Amino acid sequence: MRAIVVGAGIGGLAATLSLRRAGHEVTLVERTPRFAEVGAGIQLAPNATRVLRRLGVLDAVAAWAVRPARVCFRTWSDGTDVCSHLLGREVEEEFGAPYLLLHRADLHQVLAAAVPSGSVRLDTTVVGVDQDDGAAYVTTASGERLGADVVVAADGIRSAARQWLFGADEALFSHTAAYRALLPAAAVADLDLPELGVWMGPGRHFVHYWVRRGELLNTVAVFTAEAAQESWTARAEPGEQLCEFAGWDPRVLGVLERAGQVLRYGIHTRAPLARWNVGRVTLLGDSAHATVPFLAQGAAQAIMDAAVLGEVLTDAAPADVPAALDRYVHRRLATATSSQAGAARAGEDFHLPDGPAAEARDARMAAYAAGHRFMPQAAGWTADAGDGPTAPV
Ligand SMILES: Cc1cc2nc3c(=O)[nH]c(=O)nc-3n(C[C@H](O)[C@H](O)[C@H](O)COP(=O)(O)OP(=O)(O)OC[C@H]3O[C@@H](n4cnc5c(N)ncnc54)[C@H](O)[C@@H]3O)c2cc1C
Repeated sequence: MRAIVVGAGIGGLAATLSLRRAGHEVTLVERTPRFAEVGAGIQLAPNATRVLRRLGVLDAVAAWAVRPARVCFRTWSDGTDVCSHLLGREVEEEFGAPYLLLHRADLHQVLAAAVPSGSVRLDTTVVGVDQDDGAAYVTTASGERLGADVVVAADGIRSAARQWLFGADEALFSHTAAYRALLPAAAVADLDLPELGVWMGPGRHFVHYWVRRGELLNTVAVFTAEAAQESWTARAEPGEQLCEFAGWDPRVLGVLERAGQVLRYGIHTRAPLARWNVGRVTLLGDSAHATVPFLAQGAAQAIMDAAVLGEVLTDAAPADVPAALDRYVHRRLATATSSQAGAARAGEDFHLPDGPAAEARDARMAAYAAGHRFMPQAAGWTADAGDGPTAPV
C-alpha cells in the first residue's frame, strides 16, 4: 500500500519507519526545508525504547544517550530527598528495554537517517486533506495533490489536519510555562547533581538530566503562568528565571544562574478526542493527544502510536484501511488519554503548597518507594501497555 505521513517530528518519523517495516511505500511530507529538531532534552521510557528496538534504531539512539541509574525527587528549598526509584539495569531487566536520556536533536537525527531520502518531501506544506471511497489525498501549498491508501497526520500540537477532520478546537494553555536551557557539563560539575533530578515546590518544579553522553545538562524549570507563548524559540528575559525561582536550593539557583540562553515555553495541550480517525485519515502523536510533559511521555506515546499503526496495517489491503485505523485508535486512545490525565495530575502534585498537602505527598511518595523499585508510571512500560483500551499508564 501507499501511505503519506504529514510531519517529520518524532511521531511522523517513527510512523514512517513503522509503516515501511509493515511493507508499505511511504511518502513523508514536512513543511520545513530541512530536517531539524529544536534542541532540548527528552526522556524515553521502555515503552518507547522497546519500539525503537523493533524499528531497528535503538542501538544508534542509545549511542547518544545517557542511561540513568535512578531518578531522585527532592524538596525545593533544601534538596531533602523525598524518594528515589531505579531506572538503570534493573529497568532493562524488568521491562526488556532501557530508560534513556537524550538530546532531542540526536534522537531526531537517528530517526531521520533511517528514512530513505527518496521517501521524503521537505519544504512541502500540506494545506488540505480529503478522501473518497478508494483513496485519501493531501494538497500541498504549491497546489499538488498527492494520493495514497492511508494518510497519517503527525503535524503536531498546532495540527491543521485535526481541524480539517474534526472542526476547530484550539490548543489549550496549561497555565504553566517552562524555562529551558542546556548547559555544558563542565559549567555545573561542582554542583553534585543526580543524573535525573526532580525538585518539587509550591507552584513550580525543576527537572534536570544529562544528555548527549553526559556532555550537556538539560534543564526544565516549570512555573505557574498567566500567559506564555507556545514557542520552542522564544527567549526569556535575562535573569528572569532567578526571580521566578527565588529562595530555591542554591544548587537549583546555581544551575539557573549559569544557564546561558534560556528559552521560555508556554506549555499547551489538546483536549482528548473521542476518535482520531475518519475513513483513511488518522491523527498520530501531539496532533491527537498533546500533553503537559510532567510524566515525560508525549513523544513516547507518539512512538507507541507508530508501533500500533504499523501492526494494524501489516498485511492490510487498501480496502482494509478504515477498519484497521479503527483498531489502531481502539488500541491507543484510552492509554494516550490516560497518560494526558496522569501528566496533568503529576504537575498538580509536584506544585502543592508547603504544609500539610506537600507533607502528605512526600510521605506517600516515600512509602511507595519503600515498597516499589520502580516509579508508579512504570505500569505503563510493560510490553502490553498501550495494546488495549484499558492498559494502565
Ligand atoms: C518542555 C517539554 C518537554 C518534553 N519532554 C518530553 C520527554 O521527556 N519525553 C517525551 O516522551 N516527550 C516529551 N515532550 C513531548 C514531546 O516533545 C512531544 O510529544 C513530541 O515531540 C510530539 O511529536 P510529534 O511528532 O507528534 O509532533 P512535532 O514534534 O510537533 O512534529 C510535527 C511536525 O509536523 C510538521 N508540520 C506541521 N504542520 C505541517 C503541515 N501543514 N505540512 C507539513 N508539515 C507540517 C512540523 O514542522 C513538525 O516537523 C516534551 C514536551 C515539552 C514541551
